[in-house]
Amino acid sequence: MKRLFVISGSSGVGKGTVIKEFLKQNPGFKLSVSCTTRPMRLGEKDGESYYFISREEFKQGIENGDFIEWAEFSNNYYGTRKSIIEKALAKGENLILEIETQGALQVKNKISDAVLIFIAPPSFEELKKRLEGRQTEAPEVIQTRLDQAAREKNDSKNYDYIIVNDEVSNAVKNLEEIISQYAI
Ligand code: 5GP
Repeated sequence: MKRLFVISGSSGVGKGTVIKEFLKQNPGFKLSVSCTTRPMRLGEKDGESYYFISREEFKQGIENGDFIEWAEFSNNYYGTRKSIIEKALAKGENLILEIETQGALQVKNKISDAVLIFIAPPSFEELKKRLEGRQTEAPEVIQTRLDQAAREKNDSKNYDYIIVNDEVSNAVKNLEEIISQYAI
């Protein structure tokens, strides 16, 4: 692995879109595939979006020390297998992890030269508007997401960089500028 980039951002902030755009324009980067116990959503593929595993398998993985980091988020487990990092290391790849903040801080503790990047909404009000505008979540779920966003914003104090996603193309440009300082 050349360098590990860890990208986080609250739900509704559009980090998925920013990362997808970045990868389209920078095909030399690899996106890590995480394990999760949450149900598969429409359009997702096992082994591509995530490795969808049972809670039992996940707990076994924790016991076996298979994960470099893991966290419980919205009542589900999420984690990155050590083997993903080891493979990228062996191949000399630049790897991107798209994970929430508790996991990101665990990674930073273990791999101190990992670069932590947080994608933030222009404002908390804007985030609320975006989440409500999706009309896919019940009001209580939206409230949980907003509480999580507040916690993640607090964790982002320990990040190396914060990108405000006011406009996707600007956010992608900022991400490229940051990453190009490290990646060869
Ligand atoms: P979603 O269920 O919407 O795909 O993801 C929920 C949250 O889990 C997002 O913030 C996402 O970045 C995070 N996440 C995805 N994979 C991992 C992982 O392997 N570890 C951790 N700690 N968080 C993850």
